[in-house]
Amino acid sequence: MTTFKGFAMKRLNETGWVEKEVPDCEPYDAIVRPTCVSPCTSDTHTVWEGAIGDRKDMVLGHEAVGIVEKVGSHVKNFKEGDKVIVPAITPDWDDEAAQRGFPSQTTEPLGGWKFSNFKDGVFGERFHVNLADANLALQPEELSDEAAVMLVDMWSTGMMGAENADIPLGGSVLVIGIGAVGLSAIAGAKLLGAGEIYAAGTRPISVKVAKKYGATNIINYKEGSIDQQVRDATDGAGVDSVIIAGGNLENTWKEAIASAKAGGTVSNVNYLSGADNVLIPRVEWGCGMSGIKITNGLCPGGRVRMERLASLALNKRADPELLVTHKFKGLEKIEEALYLMKDKPKDLIKPIVKIEE
Ligand code: NAD
Ligand code: ZN
Repeated sequence: MTTFKGFAMKRLNETGWVEKEVPDCEPYDAIVRPTCVSPCTSDTHTVWEGAIGDRKDMVLGHEAVGIVEKVGSHVKNFKEGDKVIVPAITPDWDDEAAQRGFPSQTTEPLGGWKFSNFKDGVFGERFHVNLADANLALQPEELSDEAAVMLVDMWSTGMMGAENADIPLGGSVLVIGIGAVGLSAIAGAKLLGAGEIYAAGTRPISVKVAKKYGATNIINYKEGSIDQQVRDATDGAGVDSVIIAGGNLENTWKEAIASAKAGGTVSNVNYLSGADNVLIPRVEWGCGMSGIKITNGLCPGGRVRMERLASLALNKRADPELLVTHKFKGLEKIEEALYLMKDKPKDLIKPIVKIEE
């Protein structure tokens, strides 16, 4: 195969199918054929909100599992035919940012995010993976494609939101936004020892999964401000940690900071778009002296992260498949799945597309 078909962002606000040359496989790299993929809300920010600027004929998608088609001459741990989990983020592990402990930020801010950002993504018949030994993980036989594809971005990002939130054992957590990322943050918060977990969201299907993942209280953000509802539920105390995984730039940051206890942490994983500035509310932030910390991050990638998330799933710490609400079959269905992600019907959490059994 010298060329492949892929579903691409043709330019801002326009998608379509493209045919491209299969990329070269350099000595440390691999070429993979996807067996199952899933669109991300970030793909919709990219195409329809211009969140990373314009792109021309760039194949979309960064959530995939697949089969290794080819490895470079220096790849030690993988061979043709291996079934692999492909992290959404594939850092340059020899870069100085990786040595400082920030692999997702290698070569430039957000530089570990390559698929459907700087290079063609995974919504094609073939895709290229840099540094295969560090950026692929073997997919355990007991882990289904549906489960494995939820680890590469949704679990990795959501659980990072919880890891960054400095949750005290038995402490209280608020998760704002309960799409697939916020739900994964709830699962992560529970695993990290949270006591009460408040989930702000309304989609009935998400509320159901939130409770299964460990939410103890549901807050309907359409019925009043989130911080007021959190204060009412906690006798005015607020929560130790807040994870932002949805919402908007007008209200959400104000509500997040106003929900946190003095000294608490607000951990953002939301992909911010729609305005140029994030407004930190002065009074609620204790005039800059409340000790409320603000953290953020890009999804962790790499082999070890995937192996650890797979271990959580295999040991039944939480079930990644609960996030999958819509299943499609065949590469050509990627288009429908992406538009579903854009339109977000009420019964949707995540769609997946099975390309090959
Ligand atoms: P989603 O759209 O499915 O979930 C967000 C939820 O927030 C929706 O259900 C929405 O109805 C809800 N919401 C809207 N306004 C709200 C409000 N005012 N208060 C509370 N909830 C509100 O998205 P998702 O797939 O779960 O992704 C969440 C965010 O994470 C997206 O912005 C996505 O691009 C981003 N993301 C970031 C990373 C990263 O590495 N940091 C990785 C993947 C995704
Ligand atoms: Zn994503």
